[in-house]
This record gives sequence, C-alpha cells and structure tokens, in this order.
Amino acid sequence: MLNQLKQNALKEIAATKELKGLDAVYRRYLGRKGELTKVLRSLKDLSEKERKETGTAANEIKRGLEEAVGEKRREFLAPSGKTPSLSRFGGTSGKTPPSGVNWLDVTAPGVKPAVGHLHPITLVQRQVEDIFQSMGFSVVDGPEVETEYYNFDALNIPPGHPARDVLSLGRTFYLKKGGLMRSHTSPMQIRYMEKHNPPIRMIVPGKVFRVEATDSSHETNFYQLEGLMIGKDVSVANFKAVIQEFLENFFKKSIKVKLRPSYFPFVEPGFEIDMSCTMCVGKGCAACKYSGWIEMMGAGMIHPKVLKSGGLDPKKWQGFAFGMSLDRLTMIKYRINDIRLFHSGDLRFLQQF
Ligand SMILES: [Zn+2]
Repeated sequence: MLNQLKQNALKEIAATKELKGLDAVYRRYLGRKGELTKVLRSLKDLSEKERKETGTAANEIKRGLEEAVGEKRREFLAPSGKTPSLSRFGGTSGKTPPSGVNWLDVTAPGVKPAVGHLHPITLVQRQVEDIFQSMGFSVVDGPEVETEYYNFDALNIPPGHPARDVLSLGRTFYLKKGGLMRSHTSPMQIRYMEKHNPPIRMIVPGKVFRVEATDSSHETNFYQLEGLMIGKDVSVANFKAVIQEFLENFFKKSIKVKLRPSYFPFVEPGFEIDMSCTMCVGKGCAACKYSGWIEMMGAGMIHPKVLKSGGLDPKKWQGFAFGMSLDRLTMIKYRINDIRLFHSGDLRFLQQF
C-alpha cells in the first residue's frame, strides 16, 4: 500500500507543469492532511513491530518525495528552465544532492560583506579640517584632562567669576586625583601660544565634557571646534571673511554672516555669529524658528589678558578666537534633530551615513 502511494506520488510530481501544480501535489501527500502524513500519524495505533517497519518505510518514502519535489521545484525556478547541473558537487552530475544539503548556485552573485564607515561627526570634522587647512590653518590636538589653570584661570575666568556659570563652563567634571575634564577646547589657545610664535593660524577640533541634564540639544560629551588667528593686524574684518569662507565652503552655498555683540571673558569685544538659514535662505522656517538666522558660534578679539597668559605682548599682537559645536554643525548639515543620536549606537541612525 505504501509502495503504491509512493509510485502515484512520483508519477504526479513528474507530470506537473508548473510550480502551483507541484505545490498541490506536495500538499496532497506531504501536507498536514496529506496521504503520507496520515500514514505516519496512524503509526501509534500499530503494534510495536509493525510500527517500526511501517515507520521506517514511510519516513524513507517521505524523504524520497521531498527530494523529488525539491528537484522539480529547482527545475521550475532555474533561469534556463533546465535542471541545473550538479556536476559542481563533484562528479554527482544529474543526481540529487544528499538529503539535507541545500542547493548551492555558485554562479549567483555573492552577498557583499558589510563594510564599516565613518561616524557623521567624524565626516564633518574631516571636512572642516580640510577647509581650514586650505586657508593655512594648522590642525591641533590637546589633552582632554586639563588643569583649572588652563581651563579657567589663564582664559581670564578666575575662581568665582560669574562667567563660569553663565557659559555653563562651571558644570565641569572634576577628577578625584586633581584636574578636570576640559569643558571647552579653549585651553589649547594658551597651550599653543606658549609653544608657537605668531603669526598663528590654528584650529582645535575635540571632545569636551559638561555636567548637563541631557535633552535633544544638550549632551554631557560633545565636540567643539576652536579657532585662533594671531598677527600684527588681524581684525574683526579678517574674522568675518574667514568664517564666511568656511561656512560657504562647508554648506556649499552662499551664506550671509551677522555679528551680534556678546560677552565671553576671554575676548574683547565678544560677539555671537549668526548665519543665514541654509534651509529657507532667510525666508523663515522651522529650523531657524522663522527668524531666517541660525546661531552658529561665539567669537571675539582675544582679550589682552589671555594673550599675556600665552606669553604674548598684547601691544604687539592681536587676533581673533572662535568656538563652535561640531555636533551642531553636523546636525544642521544632515538635518538631525536630536544630539543624543550621535552617542546612541543606534545602527538605524548610523547606517544612513
Ligand atoms: Zn530657515
């Protein structure tokens, strides 16, 4: 009886002309209510000896039919309409691969291995470095663990100075063994002046650390870009030209720059820099809160006391300094609305770059 079932099934499989028919045959014999499945289910009603004999035979037939269906299915799916040769398995041409071996088409294009890529902030940092280097600026690195002297005192922010709180520089991580995690990249202004003679043109991209209640625009750890230019007659006009050149190069469009008076203890005069909104070109949109302008950075002419801290004579030298957030630059460039995404490690976010 089992043999008859096998012969019928094989005949039907061989006679199918399309995938749909093949699936029907499969269901008729091997499906949940299929002929052979019924046999296998009824085994429990047989004696132990019969169960063993019938069971072994039925399972063997089941494997045979599954192979026959699989073979036929490949025939339908093969692009040429012919059964693909099995010779690639090594001399088994025309034979079914051993049960349990999946069909392998070695001529099919491979799956590309995933290649790593740069973090969006790294991409922006490199672009920024390229632009400033093309204008003759050096790219400088500095320590992330700083002293109070370099982080505050040398920058005209003595202990108790209200600016520590106003600029949120006072929200600093202090270390048990002394020192602190730098709360801005400005300490490098002093360190660089100590070791280099003017004229000076340099930028410092790097990590800074602040005690913050994080939200969509505040992080405890972000990247800052510090810039410094010192010479005999470096002026605010030079600053405006350099920063406009940078922004237009970075955003690859013409940009207006506006200076607003502001206060930072390490500059005099100090100002804040707005640029025309890159999205609405000044017409007003959600990104610029309908003002047409986006706040970009703080800057100013280096305070005489800061030049002195760096060992330079303020009567002989003058220059500008600026500081902006690389995170913010990245957010504007790629239209990212939450700073916390940068350190989230969320692949759905990172894979977009
Ligand atoms: Zn806008």
